[in-house]
Amino acid sequence: MSNLMNDKDLEFLLYDVFDAEQLCELDYFKDHDRTTFDGVIETSKRIATEYFLPHNAKADANEPTFDGEQVKTIPEVKVAWQHFADSGLMCARHSYEDGGMQLPALVNSACIGYFSSANPSTAGYPFLTSAAANLIKEFGNDSQKNTFLPPMFDGRYAGTMAMTEPDVGSSLGDLTTKATLQADGSYRIKGQKMFISGGDQDITQNIVHLVLARVEGAPKGVKGISLFIVPKFLTNDDATLGERNDVKLAGLLHKMGFRGTTSTVLNFGENDNCHGYLIGEENHGLKYMFKMMNEARIGVGTGAAVVGYRGYLESLDYARNRPQGRAASDKNPQSTQLNIIEHTDVKRMLLAQKSYVEGSFALCLWAARLVDEQEAGDNQDSAILLDLLTPIVKSFPSHYGPKANDLAIQVLAGAGYTRDYPVEQCYRDNRLNPIHEGTLGIQSLDLLGRKLWMHNGKGQQLLLKEIQATLGLAEEVPELKEMVSIFTIHSETFMKTTMILGKTLQQGNVNEALANSVLYLDMMGKVVVAWLWLKMALKALQRFEGSDIEEDKAFVAGKLQAAQYFISWELPKIQHQAQLLQALDRTCLDMQANWF
Ligand SMILES: Cc1cc2nc3c(=O)[nH]c(=O)nc-3n(C[C@H](O)[C@H](O)[C@H](O)COP(=O)(O)OP(=O)(O)OC[C@H]3O[C@@H](n4cnc5c(N)ncnc54)[C@H](O)[C@@H]3O)c2cc1C
Repeated sequence: MSNLMNDKDLEFLLYDVFDAEQLCELDYFKDHDRTTFDGVIETSKRIATEYFLPHNAKADANEPTFDGEQVKTIPEVKVAWQHFADSGLMCARHSYEDGGMQLPALVNSACIGYFSSANPSTAGYPFLTSAAANLIKEFGNDSQKNTFLPPMFDGRYAGTMAMTEPDVGSSLGDLTTKATLQADGSYRIKGQKMFISGGDQDITQNIVHLVLARVEGAPKGVKGISLFIVPKFLTNDDATLGERNDVKLAGLLHKMGFRGTTSTVLNFGENDNCHGYLIGEENHGLKYMFKMMNEARIGVGTGAAVVGYRGYLESLDYARNRPQGRAASDKNPQSTQLNIIEHTDVKRMLLAQKSYVEGSFALCLWAARLVDEQEAGDNQDSAILLDLLTPIVKSFPSHYGPKANDLAIQVLAGAGYTRDYPVEQCYRDNRLNPIHEGTLGIQSLDLLGRKLWMHNGKGQQLLLKEIQATLGLAEEVPELKEMVSIFTIHSETFMKTTMILGKTLQQGNVNEALANSVLYLDMMGKVVVAWLWLKMALKALQRFEGSDIEEDKAFVAGKLQAAQYFISWELPKIQHQAQLLQALDRTCLDMQANWF
């Protein structure tokens, strides 16, 4: 058995906590039932286990190379890619007409979970491609859809998102890549992009770059950014491959983790002949790209959660089998050694991991369910809630996933620091997640400076309503009573802090209100995940009530204990954060560059 995911937990999250079967009541999903969901999840697990997992360490140890002409990846990557594409997963969420399965995002996220856990860097290629295809599908014209979608869905073409430039990362409004309109309606693109994942490779016939650029004469800032399709090879009218476009790989970047995915520096238009095709209207590019980025952000959260999950399961496995030392009270050198899982401090590290990763994964699945409610159910409240939560869905797992991986290394100790066990790679791979798709700092500004107040704060009200509904049920359950009362104290602190910061923003004191936004992001993440832990504990008690099967009883006890850990150990940390936030603490704000 692999340690990709706890199948029982996944089943519980999908069917008991987030009621995947209820989605089948929506017209778009009406052909599905639990059997079809289980079928596609089982297929994902099998492909992930057979074709992604076995070369995870090999791809890490054998980074892609570039000899000035050709990129080379290890051959297993292409095989895995093709199995993924052949399974239909690249367009699983699309309609039947478009060759898709009309699969809910919730179930698709469970599938994605297996691939990211098995091999996040090889999984990066199909995930980017499917996000790029979604964007073309939503905003491209018919000709663009007809040309690019079929080969992206069947695995002949891959996709990328090309936003970052050497001097432009977080501040996309400052990007300088240029686009010049031609007489035939196409554009010529000129500029350099950096860090582009999958920007070149030897896996597919063609690569479809989605490039942000500024049309000559466009306004400065984010309002002057347009989005272009820039293929590596141009396509002929009959959709066959044409000439090589003027996009050149300047070099590969060498990274701490995620080494199997190429990270590229790309030169567009060195010979002034890089063809680009505008998506939608000029100057609306960032809006379109955000569609891809929001989806990518949920994907990043899910990836971070499951790589954390993998590390947790690996360390759990090790702790169950590693005899070392005796109980503090046992001074007898003749007595049998305990497996380290019996030591309280090891249990602490495992509990912390369990609470972070199962909580994070639940958060991501909830976000995916909101996507389904919004897209297939046309539910505007779900859309508003998702908008509010996206920075948290991206950031909480990205922050706590690597923390879990750090603890997994500590559980294995010396063994964890070697490359003989996968936990060190998990840590290195996961360390990317708080950086790309908007750093932690940028997500926190988005949350506190913008998302909380959108739609007149309706997102906050909707979140509160969800939380209240769980509390109402949980306070009637004896096992959960104390947790509910601890939670209530801290959620009141959280709400008071939000009010104070909102007022400060209203008074125009933006720098003061946002100075400690990362603390706020973490605080809100903890409150939301603590609520999800209460919800999971409640559902676990309901689901397995009366069961005398040992495995069920252990599952429920584990959920209760992890909920208690998160609510008694992690959640109260927000009090100190609240103190600093409510006082508009100026320690970091007042620090001067020349004082360092
Ligand atoms: C492995 C990898 C894969 C990537 N893949 C892609 C890809 O496929 N496509 C793509 O376009 N990009 C990609 N990126 C780029 C990634 O999105 C950027 O690295 C990220 O947006 C941050 O930009 P930066 O590295 O230039 O850091 P900077 O923007 O220079 O930020 C440096 C630090 O300053 C902070 N900071 C910056 N601005 C502010 C502010 N206004 N307020 C407070 N703090 C601030 C940041 O939080 C950060 O801590 C990838 C990066 C990596 C490492």
